[in-house]
Amino acid sequence: MEFKFSEQEEAFKKEIEDFLKKELPAGRAEMSMHWPGGYGSMEAASKEVLEAAFKFRRKLAEKGWLTISWPKEYGGVEHSYMEQAIYDERISYYRAPGMGIATGIAGPTILRFGTEENKKDWIAPIARGEIEMWLGYSEPNAGSDLAGIQTTAVEDGDDYIINGQKTWSTIAHLANYAWMIAITDPNAPRHRNASLFIVDNKSPGVTIRPLINIVGVHSFNEVFFDNVRVPRRNMVGEKNMGFYYMMTALDFERLMVGVGGFRRLFEQFVEYVKQSQRDGSPLGKNPMVRKKLAEIAVKIELVYLFFWRTASMLDKGLVPSVESSVLKLTATELSRALADVTMEIMGPYGQLMGGTEEAPFRGMAPRGYLDCISATIGAGTSEIQRNIIAMRGLGLVKK
Ligand SMILES: Cc1cc2nc3c(=O)[nH]c(=O)nc-3n(C[C@H](O)[C@H](O)[C@H](O)COP(=O)(O)OP(=O)(O)OC[C@H]3O[C@@H](n4cnc5c(N)ncnc54)[C@H](O)[C@@H]3O)c2cc1C
Repeated sequence: MEFKFSEQEEAFKKEIEDFLKKELPAGRAEMSMHWPGGYGSMEAASKEVLEAAFKFRRKLAEKGWLTISWPKEYGGVEHSYMEQAIYDERISYYRAPGMGIATGIAGPTILRFGTEENKKDWIAPIARGEIEMWLGYSEPNAGSDLAGIQTTAVEDGDDYIINGQKTWSTIAHLANYAWMIAITDPNAPRHRNASLFIVDNKSPGVTIRPLINIVGVHSFNEVFFDNVRVPRRNMVGEKNMGFYYMMTALDFERLMVGVGGFRRLFEQFVEYVKQSQRDGSPLGKNPMVRKKLAEIAVKIELVYLFFWRTASMLDKGLVPSVESSVLKLTATELSRALADVTMEIMGPYGQLMGGTEEAPFRGMAPRGYLDCISATIGAGTSEIQRNIIAMRGLGLVKK
């Protein structure tokens, strides 16, 4: 066990930092209103920001940094997963647009399970940062229990015809393609009856309607599929293997916790505490404040340890599964703890929203307090992560 980076890893970390300092607009990291773990304060939640993010991502793509650990023949640079983790940490610390759904979730799943045709069609545009996808899993009657989906894909010659509704579809209005699951064999047993598809948002019959989240931002949508024709070659991997592939895709998703964002926000809050007074005394002298901050500092270190562990597992050829859930659970519960602690320490001032002149800490606390709720629901709720840890990790029987 080695608790430090190699010389090569340190050099790579520096290369990323130099690049980010040069290429990111000045002050971006300080001014960002992103709450780590939250969806409502995601940078991608507006068209202008997303376009800027796409531009920035293309620069990352030119360096091969969107696909750091991918094989060279698929546009990657064959760095280790640890180097990819170092990159993710620095990108999220600087609040830069990094990997998206296409590069972080769809690409790795296609590389693992896709047909040669899938790889030919999708890997190059994903690696070049040209396309983005949204995740079409949840439906009005299927969230935690995704086997309850009702969307169908019926074979018709060389195509499939899709009918149904997806919901909570984050960035569907900004992305180009749905990465979605639909029932392809209604007579087969649960979990062996569905397939994954990639569907062009521009296909006739796709209707995307906004849902406004708790922070007041249009980050997700409900999406309707009305006789949408999709070529058979857009099916990912084999027919009826969709749930199996989706479980791996979810494990990839649960690794994308934006670990650096927690450290950055915490550093900013500690700075606020250092510069604040309450009743004529430095805020940082208050024993309750010191205790709460120390507890958060420990939780951040824990999330970092789980994060590095998943990278080291991937480098050993293992696929993190329970470990992805542990990381997701710990990081998103930290998102909530951080919001609770900032609100508690700031007292009544903590309720002043951003945009108010008197709002301390730029009004981040109330925004985070609302946004952190999404963290422990999206990509599988905390209860579901605990169930996975109990079943797959501890071997306890299914309820
Ligand atoms: C901000 C945000 C973004 C999202 N983005 C997307 C997206 O892009 N694409 C997508 O497909 N989905 C997305 N989702 C949907 C998300 O995956 C689901 O909301 C989530 O899986 C929970 O499903 P549900 O809302 O149907 O709640 P339910 O499954 O109905 O759960 C309700 C409550 O019951 C608990 N519960 C359910 N089953 C169990 C069980 N077996 N044991 C213990 N407790 C249980 C849950 O933890 C929860 O507290 C997003 C959600 C949010 C909040």
